[in-house]
Amino acid sequence: MHEIRHVGDPVLRTPAEPVTDFDKELRRLVDEMFGIMYAADGVGLAGPQIGVPRRVFVYDISNRKGHLINPELIVDDEEQVVEEEGCLSVPSRETGKPLYAPTPRAAGVTVIGVDRLGRPVSVTARGMLARCFQHEFDHLNGKLYVDHLPREERRHVLAATPQP
Ligand SMILES: [Zn+2]
Repeated sequence: MHEIRHVGDPVLRTPAEPVTDFDKELRRLVDEMFGIMYAADGVGLAGPQIGVPRRVFVYDISNRKGHLINPELIVDDEEQVVEEEGCLSVPSRETGKPLYAPTPRAAGVTVIGVDRLGRPVSVTARGMLARCFQHEFDHLNGKLYVDHLPREERRHVLAATPQP
């Protein structure tokens, strides 16, 4: 059983490797990721967040649910939108709940990848789903939402985590 890793864990800063085996183990991993995400009241979860350095994420937000493997992210609308964003891997050390901060993201994106059976998947998104895709895609490249914050704001958020 995998557990959610928190900022300070090197796996969150390591670019994930492509998935190569579309086997039973991968299908189990995707199921487990949904379970961990729902148990934590999350809306998205990427492999590195549970210590699995593979290019896979799951999401369930704005009535859209799915998973992406080996995704590419295309920015369709570069306009920056600032909304509150948080991350299961960036929790408050007092409450254990995600810490939120206003974070700029592109307004519209398309993700292209495959599903756990290797079938092509393409999803075009705006709003919170587009934000979620950018957030999860960042995880696959060893990035966290706090990287997009102004320095002072980033420091403020990180100071409240278990490993400041
Ligand atoms: Zn996250």
